[in-house]
Amino acid sequence: MLVLFVVLSSCTKNEENKPPAQEQEVYYVQGDPINLVEGTTLSDELPFKIDNLEQFKDSYIVSSVYFTEKVKEKKYSTSEEGRESRKSVYKPKKGALFSFKKYSSESGDSYGFESDDPDQWRFGFEIDSSGKLYRLRKPNGFQILHVSITPDKKYFNFLIYSNKDKDSKYLVSITFTTDPINEDIFVSDKNREQYYYLRGPGVIFNWPQKVNLDLCYGGYNSKVLLKRVTEAAQMWNTAIGENIIQVNLKKNYPPFSDLNSRCVYLNKSFLKNRSGATTFPIFKMAENHFLDSDIFLWDGHLANKYFTSFLQDKNKLEKLDLLAAVKSTIIHELGHFLGLGHNFDYGVNTSIMGYKEDYVELQPYDIEAIRALYRR
Ligand SMILES: [Zn+2]
Repeated sequence: MLVLFVVLSSCTKNEENKPPAQEQEVYYVQGDPINLVEGTTLSDELPFKIDNLEQFKDSYIVSSVYFTEKVKEKKYSTSEEGRESRKSVYKPKKGALFSFKKYSSESGDSYGFESDDPDQWRFGFEIDSSGKLYRLRKPNGFQILHVSITPDKKYFNFLIYSNKDKDSKYLVSITFTTDPINEDIFVSDKNREQYYYLRGPGVIFNWPQKVNLDLCYGGYNSKVLLKRVTEAAQMWNTAIGENIIQVNLKKNYPPFSDLNSRCVYLNKSFLKNRSGATTFPIFKMAENHFLDSDIFLWDGHLANKYFTSFLQDKNKLEKLDLLAAVKSTIIHELGHFLGLGHNFDYGVNTSIMGYKEDYVELQPYDIEAIRALYRR
């Protein structure tokens, strides 16, 4: 059991502290990052047409997550540094503005969706005969794998892949919004400042209503994993006193970048910083709510030799209650999914949101913090 504890406690031990939303979060993955979308249903239909470009002018990047296989070790953040960073309150600021620019040439018109900031991404789009923008202009060297847009059309995302770079392959999920940042709404709540939330103590981001969190997994023994995720969700629901998270199993599902689907993925890739699971939230800055959030359980860590083989071998599984241990990781990630940050104040509060123990139950701090977060 000792080995197991070490493996699972490292799940969260080296998890990254998230930089501000406009800054790019970089994750180093094992192997080709295209593996992160393996088994997903991709759609690259663009939301832009010539006659609706006005709607997308003044867009800015609200989230940018970059995965690369480049072999470069990141400095691990220590829990001490994490503790300090969790005390500060994230201050939102508007990122670079993007808008459409028209280019005319002898071969016809094309558009660039671009920022005046030269450090930002630039997208060029070609136009088909019906006047629809239909694909990235060459020779950008990267391809759009998946596009999604929210029903209100205020948030849209591109998932981009490139294997053209001689040094590395990369996968980038970029979310744009036309929604303004309302800085006034982004305030710390004195009554809740004793709790660590994702954007700092007392800063509230939560789900406005029930949210479907699907186990997006078509692999072996999905029912066992579904049971674990459902049990973990039920713990949080009970603590909140409201059925916020509803869990279903999906065997057909879009990639993590999709803004209209929230998933727990079990992925065979793994992060080089040895995190066992990671949650990727996207915030709706104007409303203090989540727009989207997805969880990766990195099979490669959870655990390389253990997880897959135990899931596939019923005899082994019965001998070692691996999934009970995995459950503690799932509960921790669901805490992030709901809006809790890390709690490193050991000695003051024991918490499932710390790294110190692998709890399989919520601790008193966790229950208080989540209740405060969902006190409407
Ligand atoms: Zn964590």
